[in-house]
Amino acid sequence: MFRIGVNIASDKIKAAVLDEYFRIIGRGQSEKRKKRTADELESDITAVINQAMDDAKIDKDYILSIGIAAPGTVDKESGIVEHASNFDFELIPLRDLLWKHFDKPIYLENDANCLALGEFKAGVGTRGDSLMAVTINKGVGGGLIFDGKIFGGCNGTAGEIGHMVINVDGEQCTCGRRGCFETYASVRALVAGVKAELETDKDSAIMGMIDNDLDNLNEKIVYEAIANGDALAIRVFEKYVYFLSVGITNIVNIFQPETLVIGGDICTLGKTLLNPIVKMVEEQRFSIHSDRQTDIRLCESGSDMTLIGAALLDE
Ligand SMILES: [Zn+2]
Repeated sequence: MFRIGVNIASDKIKAAVLDEYFRIIGRGQSEKRKKRTADELESDITAVINQAMDDAKIDKDYILSIGIAAPGTVDKESGIVEHASNFDFELIPLRDLLWKHFDKPIYLENDANCLALGEFKAGVGTRGDSLMAVTINKGVGGGLIFDGKIFGGCNGTAGEIGHMVINVDGEQCTCGRRGCFETYASVRALVAGVKAELETDKDSAIMGMIDNDLDNLNEKIVYEAIANGDALAIRVFEKYVYFLSVGITNIVNIFQPETLVIGGDICTLGKTLLNPIVKMVEEQRFSIHSDRQTDIRLCESGSDMTLIGAALLDE
């Protein structure tokens, strides 16, 4: 029998058919859309699931369950996506919308929790029984595995580490508080930091990469400039990594997970990102005398672990 995992990312939706050895044997992918209405969401998810089953050459009689990784907050009991910034509305009854098309058990979970589960079952976290995933995208998310299971707290929304304050009276956050981890450690913060420096340092080679137009600056160009060793980009990146390490040290101090895995496209920076974080966490962490320490890893670039974790929600 097979399982289906779906990942609703910020602009496109992906689906995969997983076999019993956690291997992907079929895939589906939607077109990019900036925002989706409820009808578009329903039709796109249905289409990518059918596409993945066609690709795997199986029909729905062989499917055990469907798991959906959704951005934002989800209510697992009711199957409702409560809030996500890339939907045009709130409170989407996603499980009911999909049930009528597939007549299979449908599980819903926050995407960072799905990444954590995927890495725990089939990725870098297969040792021990605890894992924390830190997702770095436009915002910063977190997923927690305790005793081999997703830990959601009393209402399913545990692990929102992006809104842990690391600088009281710091930058204003979208959540209403000031100085949240997300306002310093998101990709948006990194790009904004480079942009602010470029406003006073027009001699930087980055200006050539963006045709002298700051509106052309994006995260891909910033990653490229960092990888090239551009002095301005490195200066901003060092400060950024320091804030990232402060938040990660807080998480390590509180939970001491066996594994902490960082996800998001920023992982394309590889050791340039990982090495300074590991070093700074080693310098700051409380557990300096313990023999056993949290293993800090990066997700592989283009990782399927969110999809795989979504497919395994029924386990
Ligand atoms: Zn916040």
